[in-house]
Amino acid sequence: MKVRFAPSPTGPFHIGGARSALFNFLLAKKEKGTFLVRIEDTDLARSTKESEENIKAALKWLGMNWDEGIDVGGDNGPYRQTERLDIYKKYVDQLIKEGKAYYCYCTEEELDKEREAQMARGETPKYNGHCAHLTEEQIEQYKKEGRKPTVRLRVPLNQTVAFDDMVRGHIAFESNGIGDFVIVKSDGIPVYNFAVVVDDHTMGITHVIRAEEHVSNTPRQLVIFDALGWQAPTYGHISLILGADKKKMSKRHGATSVDQYRQQGYLPEALVNFLALLGWSPEGEDELFTMDQLIEQFSMDHVAKNPAVFDIDKLNWINFHYMKKLSDEELYELCLPHLQAAGYAPQSPSADEKAWLMMLCTCVRDHVSYGAQIVDQVKMFFTDSIEEDQEHAADIQAVKDEDTYKTVVAAFKDKLQAMDQVTPGAVKAAIKSIMKETKLKGKFVFMPIRVAITGQMHGADLNYIVTLFGKDKTAARLEAALA
Ligand code: GLU
Repeated sequence: MKVRFAPSPTGPFHIGGARSALFNFLLAKKEKGTFLVRIEDTDLARSTKESEENIKAALKWLGMNWDEGIDVGGDNGPYRQTERLDIYKKYVDQLIKEGKAYYCYCTEEELDKEREAQMARGETPKYNGHCAHLTEEQIEQYKKEGRKPTVRLRVPLNQTVAFDDMVRGHIAFESNGIGDFVIVKSDGIPVYNFAVVVDDHTMGITHVIRAEEHVSNTPRQLVIFDALGWQAPTYGHISLILGADKKKMSKRHGATSVDQYRQQGYLPEALVNFLALLGWSPEGEDELFTMDQLIEQFSMDHVAKNPAVFDIDKLNWINFHYMKKLSDEELYELCLPHLQAAGYAPQSPSADEKAWLMMLCTCVRDHVSYGAQIVDQVKMFFTDSIEEDQEHAADIQAVKDEDTYKTVVAAFKDKLQAMDQVTPGAVKAAIKSIMKETKLKGKFVFMPIRVAITGQMHGADLNYIVTLFGKDKTAARLEAALA
């Protein structure tokens, strides 16, 4: 088994592309086959080096290293289509020689006019075969006029072009609907459909998993395979990814590129796990899978025909799961850029600053599903005023109305002043001794202190919150509560 991922480097690396890459990768690894990556850059106007670099970096970040292809090499290179033009030319020449393809001198204007006429007659537009049988004289005349020809494939009439799709089952097209289509543009660059066929064949590709939008390209590719006398690979066209509103996932729905998720502080393991579930469903109830588990369990039989819906809550849930496995240090590394962007952390923290920031991250980690979310959770440590949680205003008021509210706050303030060093352990001990001295139950001690310091009913571990604020800031807040 040999599969390939063949991105066009024409923009940000879309999560749909990453999912296609992943399904190919999983299939290759599961079957102990080869995963190849090549770059389809024949769209010269839209392809950029930056996009190519971005795609390669994202694949590596997601853990999809390829066995053959761009950068890593192999026996079937080069792996960038613009470097394979002489290979394509060889096969184009062969087709022309065999009469299976021909030069077409029609101009854009002529083609447009014909298309309009066909549509006016209620026909589906297709090439009318004008140049299919030109005489030598006609060709000479066109050349003299300086027309630059395209090359068209002679598509046989009255044939059914069919294939058995791994996901969608039997699909058939009538060749009469295709029309002789362009395989080489007038600038000499082959079109995607032609390059892809030559590449898939010469690179020995056995299985192709790609997006549903390519279903309509497949009959053209099959006709080319046929003309060249080659066997086509087995195709599997995976469904669209939809947004929550069941419309095709687009920028309107939020982040669509792998890079955006990386920048927001999602983990590659989580994104891989999530992408796998966009279209593939595991046997059992479990939804958390490492790459190795995915490789073991993946199968095309469990890839759904109906569209997958991108559920951000699910991604957050999965990411939270993987974030739990991070050490405090790793968590800090993930969150630091976000804290820096918010102005909450210096560009190069000193050892003391790092220790404080690390405690900060650890303190709120149970409330953070992805890196960027930390900013909201730690806001209170960077503002002098206390923002009361409006949603729980009544509960907060109830805590303040307790007879013992001020007693507890005052007692805690005294204990805090007496501490040599404010640490989570010291805070914990202080709260414990207040409980003992006042004979109040836990809640009646915790809540007044939490409300006085944070203005919230819920949140991170109080011992850490106090430690992070430090003696002076905590004391100021307690004093304000007593005033
Ligand atoms: N280069 C095509 C794309 O990025 C993929 C072609 C294919 O998988 O056959 O959409």
